[in-house]
Amino acid sequence: MESGTFAEPKPSPLALLLLGKNADPDSETGVECPGDLPPASDPNLVERVRTARAILGDRLYILGHHYQRDEVIQFADTTGDSYKLSQQAAAHPEAEFIVFCGVHFMAESADILTSDSQQVLLPDLAAGCSMADMAAIHQVEDAWDVFEAAGIAKSVIPITYMNSSASIKAFTGRHGGAVCTSSNAKRALEWAFAQGEQVFFLPDQHLGRNTAIRDLGMTRDDCVVFDPHKPGGGLSEEQLRDARMILWRGHCSVHGRFTADSVRDVRDRVPGVRVIVHPECTHEVVSLADEVGSTEYIINAIAAAPAGSKWAVGTELNLVRRLAIEHPDQEIVYLEKAVCFCSTMNRIDLPHLAWTLENLVNGIVVNRITVEPEEARWARVALDRMLALPGLAPRD
Ligand code: SF4
Repeated sequence: MESGTFAEPKPSPLALLLLGKNADPDSETGVECPGDLPPASDPNLVERVRTARAILGDRLYILGHHYQRDEVIQFADTTGDSYKLSQQAAAHPEAEFIVFCGVHFMAESADILTSDSQQVLLPDLAAGCSMADMAAIHQVEDAWDVFEAAGIAKSVIPITYMNSSASIKAFTGRHGGAVCTSSNAKRALEWAFAQGEQVFFLPDQHLGRNTAIRDLGMTRDDCVVFDPHKPGGGLSEEQLRDARMILWRGHCSVHGRFTADSVRDVRDRVPGVRVIVHPECTHEVVSLADEVGSTEYIINAIAAAPAGSKWAVGTELNLVRRLAIEHPDQEIVYLEKAVCFCSTMNRIDLPHLAWTLENLVNGIVVNRITVEPEEARWARVALDRMLALPGLAPRD
């Protein structure tokens, strides 16, 4: 690390948080972040990351989510979706340091799934997930109280999407539920309906609704939306009792931007195009698409398509741009004309990666993500229930 000291005057706590150099006292614990970020314009940044990585050798394993910037993804030992990356972290016990180029809930999951001797680092603490942040544990506990009052708690099975905080996963484990991914949501719902009569789906209402309607043959009327900002979730006890799916009012700020007009417009602009979207998109968009699937599904579908294929892809823009570069023999366009990156995922950049690695070289662990043991234990219960789902392939 060059010189390794903060310049004066000291930035405000908010500025430090935004730079990822300090802890958010409300959501992080015990994070010391000495050192200084290299400037974004530093022409030697790539070389500096390479050097730090070479020094750390097998002690370091870098995970890169599919939605990361190219400048970061080039250094990833493995790329993938959030669950695959956590599995990969656990599959490399020799790595003392797991640097997770993703967002906060992913680093938490990696910490839950890795051994105590491994430390998980998130290069920028401000890299959160707007969807995961839409379900705070106190809101979810309050919702459960509403279910108790309505007399339905005993028949409700919680299912939480991987994109949720460790505390929500732990809540799910404590209340007999399981985690799911966008690949195995159907199996998770089938399992849940074998355990109880109703499902409480968190935090993405769209994945819950799309799976219930497309894969389980339900109707929109079988689903109600629990709004944590309204008394009783904005639902009567009768509505709660009659619903089969109680959907948390959360969504992804990236996938939620695609509209039915985006689909119609791209069909006009690109004749013969196939529209492929992620199930975090709204039900209207999913209903109009030709194919629907997880990030890995989208990658594999395009990889398997013949030359000359035309695709409009409804997922995060970094991935879509990379797919277009990797498949020059196909026409791959973005479903929405307006630029649509995941802004929190994009907080992980080369300066933050260099800063993190160079601190490790100097023996300083910055931005470590840890999950409190009792919370990790219950979150693990919910994750293990997912892994035990009948008929699940290893990558589902
Ligand atoms: S793309 Fe959506 S769900 Fe994924 S990290 Fe960004 S905000 Fe969260």
